[in-house]
Amino acid sequence: MIDSNVYNSFVQEAMLILAKAKMELGESHILAFSGQYEGVILADMIADLFPVPTIFFADTGRHFEETYQILHDVIARFPQLYLICTSPASTVILTRPYHMKTSEAGRDACCDRNKAAPLQRVLIGKKGWLTGLRRSHSTSRNCTDLIEQNKPEGKTKYNPLADWPDEAVMRYTAEHRLPCNMLYLKGYRSIGCAPCTRPTFEWEDHLAGKWWWETRKEKGCGMHGEEKEK
Ligand code: SF4
Repeated sequence: MIDSNVYNSFVQEAMLILAKAKMELGESHILAFSGQYEGVILADMIADLFPVPTIFFADTGRHFEETYQILHDVIARFPQLYLICTSPASTVILTRPYHMKTSEAGRDACCDRNKAAPLQRVLIGKKGWLTGLRRSHSTSRNCTDLIEQNKPEGKTKYNPLADWPDEAVMRYTAEHRLPCNMLYLKGYRSIGCAPCTRPTFEWEDHLAGKWWWETRKEKGCGMHGEEKEK
């Protein structure tokens, strides 16, 4: 059980970062939403804070049904949110079933077309974006800062939950009675596309269930450039 003073300090820190983001970005923002606890928490936090609270969901066409459901639940719970949802790319050859598992180039192309490129397009004309990245997700994210400049070039990236441990995420979700993705009940701890995500064991990184068949170190989807650089 997380100490209440510690928990409150995490919540206050996140709200301070969001207040700064509101001041610096105003309407010129998006919240990257992928159907996970963190995205729901941030949706709750910005819904009545930002002038035009906007979330972005990259529909790859390969999400779990539970993820489409949580997107629906969040919009129903916070009708004041604006949703930008990109359609799956028409990558018939690149994304034919399981091609991503036999070719790193095929996997990269699928992620580029369905995730990274749509994000880049949506960020055009925006000053910055908000994400639910946390340092404890994996060793590849343990240097995540609360605010990052030029991620990507010319955009400010705010990660208000960067410091949060799992216990803070669970407590906020319970206290605010937020909807949550049912995949967590099936052992998933980081949720991505259905063909590329599996449940994880307790002793694994949150991200260990993503592209688990790959042996390379850099396994990001391309939306968070720093993952590719390490
Ligand atoms: S995670 Fe898998 S299915 Fe989703 S965009 Fe990347 S390669 Fe394609």
